[in-house]
Amino acid sequence: MEIGCPLCNGLIDFSQPCAVCGSGMEDSGMLEDYYGPYSPYGNIEFYEPDEELQTTGVAACVHLFACPKCGYDKRISFPEVTL
Ligand SMILES: [Zn+2]
Ligand SMILES: [Zn+2]
Repeated sequence: MEIGCPLCNGLIDFSQPCAVCGSGMEDSGMLEDYYGPYSPYGNIEFYEPDEELQTTGVAACVHLFACPKCGYDKRISFPEVTL
């Protein structure tokens, strides 16, 4: 069984409004692989997968979301799931 990031593999369509201006933030791509609960990046929000996605509980893929309008960005961690 393969595992992978649900966002990188197109399993989910994730978007979020900008906390500053409310525009739709865009996925700017994944950052380097990230493992474990302690983040070198500071503020990372954790995406809670839907119930039908079974998380592996080990690895996570961190994506940078940026607002095209005001430049606000934030990192969101997506736990890898069984594909
Ligand atoms: Zn990913
Ligand atoms: Zn914005």
